[in-house]
Amino acid sequence: MRAASLLREMPPVDHGAELYLTYEGERLLNLASNNYLGLSGHAALRDHAARAALEGGAGSGASRIVTGTDVAYDALEREVAAFKGTQAALVVGSGYAANLSIMTALAGRTATVFSDRLNHASIIDGITLSRARHVRYRHNDMDHLRRQLEAHADAAQKILVTDSVFSMDGDCADLESIVRLCRDHGALLVVDEAHATGVLGDGKGLSHALGCADEVDVQMGTFSKALGSYGAYIAADEDIIALVRNRGRSFVFSTSLPPSVVAANRAALRSVATDTALAGRLTDLSQRLRGHLDGLGFDTGGSTTQIIPVILGDNDAAIAAREYLRRKGLYVPAIRPPTVPQGTARLRISLRADISDKAMDDICVAFTDLAQERGVCRA
Ligand SMILES: *Cc1c(COP(=O)(O)O)cnc(C)c1O
Repeated sequence: MRAASLLREMPPVDHGAELYLTYEGERLLNLASNNYLGLSGHAALRDHAARAALEGGAGSGASRIVTGTDVAYDALEREVAAFKGTQAALVVGSGYAANLSIMTALAGRTATVFSDRLNHASIIDGITLSRARHVRYRHNDMDHLRRQLEAHADAAQKILVTDSVFSMDGDCADLESIVRLCRDHGALLVVDEAHATGVLGDGKGLSHALGCADEVDVQMGTFSKALGSYGAYIAADEDIIALVRNRGRSFVFSTSLPPSVVAANRAALRSVATDTALAGRLTDLSQRLRGHLDGLGFDTGGSTTQIIPVILGDNDAAIAAREYLRRKGLYVPAIRPPTVPQGTARLRISLRADISDKAMDDICVAFTDLAQERGVCRA
């Protein structure tokens, strides 16, 4: 990997979740983290986490199946279910673990799972671990999905799984069509709202924004992105939650979240449930920057959210652009294959609600300069 320049680097930064991080002694505006609302630094989350750690200790001791469940966990799960409008919810150690648990619990060896080609790695790993048949359809291509469903019409059990907001492109799944196709073909629908939780649909996700949450069988989301903390939830009917609780291997065989994290998650959920102003500002900022970039001729793909790719094509161009922006005070990651398809290397901008108007102007100026520096913007 080193010889092929594919070894991944983890640059040492200070305060990687905050609006400004420090990298090699420089203070840079952080456009890389998923802390979209800046909640990780909020007083309520920090206070609740600190108090819970002082009272309950640093760790949870074991899997909840073994030690039993702390009342704070039950409370968090009830709050998630109430927020999402489902019968029940289950809190799992991370988003990665949640997708493993969902797929291993719901998909047996005889199941067929239909999955968008750009779905998150944790979904792909969950399908692999479940040993179900894995049928991929072209990204957001509803005709291709329909043909795949028709081709596997006699499958014993059908499950369709999709990201709601795609993590490297910032575009949204066509959930309304997907819901219809699932209904027509008798497929169970699982939606991963990792990047939409806290942001879209009054914080409840894309399924709610589009008014089709009732037709989604399993809504999964994380506390680790816009909610500024750690861990994940699965929201669904009681029967499905009971199945995941019993058969989700990454839930059963893994230590539960520590009390401090559970407390922070509850505070974060209260924050997004009662205050939608931050999410509104994030949407405004996203529209403004996307409009600016499109005006400059940059290719922002199908983005409609706070994740804005600037697709530059070749790997060296993406790295050169990243370094150029760094000299302008911006920390923007360059994403290359295999994380994205060959020939689509890109900058990936993650906007956040706590960016000031002045900083937003600076971002726009930096990209205007980058466009001039590059001459023509090749897609
Ligand atoms: C980040 C992400 C996950 C994993 O969540 P973690 O809490 O970071 O483990 C799962 N699905 C999607 C779509 C994601 O973007």
